[in-house]
Amino acid sequence: MSDFFTDSFGRPLNYLRLAVTDRCNLRCFYCMPAEGIDYVDRKDLLSYEEMLRLTRIFVSLGVNKIRLTGGEPFVRRNFYGFLKRLTKIEGLDKIAITTNGAVASKHIPFLKEIGITSINLSLDTLNKDRYTQITRRDFFDQAMETYHAVLAAGIKLSVNMVVMEGKNIEDIVPMAMLTKNDNVTVRFIEEMPFNGIGARYTIGFNHKKILETLKEDLPELAPIPFKDGTTAQEYTIDGYKGKIGIIAAYTRTFCGSCNRIRVTATGEMKNCLYDQGVLNLKRMLSDGSSDQMICEAIKAGYSKKLKDGREAEAARMTSVSESMSSIGG
Ligand code: SAM
Ligand code: SF4
Repeated sequence: MSDFFTDSFGRPLNYLRLAVTDRCNLRCFYCMPAEGIDYVDRKDLLSYEEMLRLTRIFVSLGVNKIRLTGGEPFVRRNFYGFLKRLTKIEGLDKIAITTNGAVASKHIPFLKEIGITSINLSLDTLNKDRYTQITRRDFFDQAMETYHAVLAAGIKLSVNMVVMEGKNIEDIVPMAMLTKNDNVTVRFIEEMPFNGIGARYTIGFNHKKILETLKEDLPELAPIPFKDGTTAQEYTIDGYKGKIGIIAAYTRTFCGSCNRIRVTATGEMKNCLYDQGVLNLKRMLSDGSSDQMICEAIKAGYSKKLKDGREAEAARMTSVSESMSSIGG
């Protein structure tokens, strides 16, 4: 740990989440409005060359784990070519992707071949109609195909379910039951206010209610000690192949050991989902700044990481309303 650059709370800089696009083929209602989405100009997105350069710089600072997210990574043209080049960067031990799975299934064997280490699949229900209501698109079968393809390929799989009062509470237990026979971690996530519409927000179903709901049907849930740097409180059930996780993403119980850095699709560096950005990397990548100068700027930016997401939100000039797709969830 001592070899890593750390922030003022001693949290090591070793994990980067990179949004490869803000575009998406779904319209999940907790993430973006049905219509009128303000996608950024293509020229304002980081290019793959810029992302590769940035990744090398982050690796030189100690980053050894990267997660590619978005928007939907698989809708960006030539994402596979980019991945192939990314996997050649020395020093990255873990390359993970978060995807909705809508167009990913046929590429999964290829991902295994080039060394992608884990996939988070977003799936909020096992009911096709509810899936269509939540995502406003008809890709349930394709998402399930991706689920099975990832398991078959032997890539580490987590499923992310955003839990929403009045939308998918009845899915909590069926989703947890996936862990009985499949080697999957099913993670229940509190809904956050990043829905792109800026509506006033109060959480309906928090981590405590999620746990209570699970325990009603699965009283044998046993907690695993919380690991620093992670976000999920995990549980096992004796005899089950997979694990269950609860992420208090809105309540923010895990921030103390959070060392994530995010780079948005437009190259804004964020120390926290809830902050407004600490450094415009896109500008530095195009204004002739050397790698060394960018390294120093990243270190200075990371040093400003606040204690937790509550402080990060309080320090904002405007209230949270952006779409998660523009941040990289
Ligand atoms: N399109 C990809 C996907 O859906 O997996 C990657 C990007 S998406 C923004 C990343 C994660 O953020 C997904 O698991 C999604 O469920 C989650 N997410 C999006 N909006 C959210 C919100 N308002 N609250 C909680 N999680 C959210
Ligand atoms: Fe797209 Fe992912 Fe947002 Fe859903 S959560 S709209 S799949 S970016």
